Amino acid sequence: MLFRVSPLKSLIHLAQSRKISYGQLKSWYSGLVKKPPPIPPYSHIIQIGDPVLRVVADNVPNDLIKSSEIQFLIKIMKGVFKRYDCVGLSAPQIGISLRVFITEFNANHLKAFDEAERKTKEMKIFPQTVVINPQLKVTDYTKVIYTEACESVKGYWADVPRYRAVELNGYNENGEKISINAKGWLARIFQHELDHLDGKLYTDSMDRKTLTCTCWQVVNERSGKVEIPFNR
Ligand SMILES: [Zn+2]
Repeated sequence: MLFRVSPLKSLIHLAQSRKISYGQLKSWYSGLVKKPPPIPPYSHIIQIGDPVLRVVADNVPNDLIKSSEIQFLIKIMKGVFKRYDCVGLSAPQIGISLRVFITEFNANHLKAFDEAERKTKEMKIFPQTVVINPQLKVTDYTKVIYTEACESVKGYWADVPRYRAVELNGYNENGEKISINAKGWLARIFQHELDHLDGKLYTDSMDRKTLTCTCWQVVNERSGKVEIPFNR
């Protein structure tokens, strides 16, 4: 009899008669109802420990690159990429185990480094590019070591050795073949993103002694009262 109209309406009536606020009731009631977990593609970037980051991603069948499903995935990735102001983002990082990544190194990214660093690290502006089913060929085996970070290892960075130059072959979002010769910082970004598609993270190849919490000084300044956001 109590739940004949609707459980919530009856509960509101019960709350009023017992002088419980609507807010208290709503919070109690929502605690009873289990929310289903979100389904990928996510609008956030997943973090180290998520099994999806350890899987070798599947190729996108070439005839499906222009399908509405893959185009939808690219659209979601572009949105996340923009919101997080990424330099690189792979599909596994939003929970989809497919060989797709986006890179961009724009004027704002470049501004974060001084002139000397830009030169040493061979940094150049690179327009936003979607790469599907990439294959990487090392063209200069010289190993260069610089500090690297990853949106899936939020709050840390470390020194990582990478090859100085690579040739990247794959397809763009229109299904057209692309081939890019990359040196320096761009070659590093490509190797980082390729690793994501192979289930690897920079923590696998970093110099372990250099792993650094990016805000360790702020932790001291604020007596530990620091929060690291995992969404943007
Ligand atoms: Zn990453």
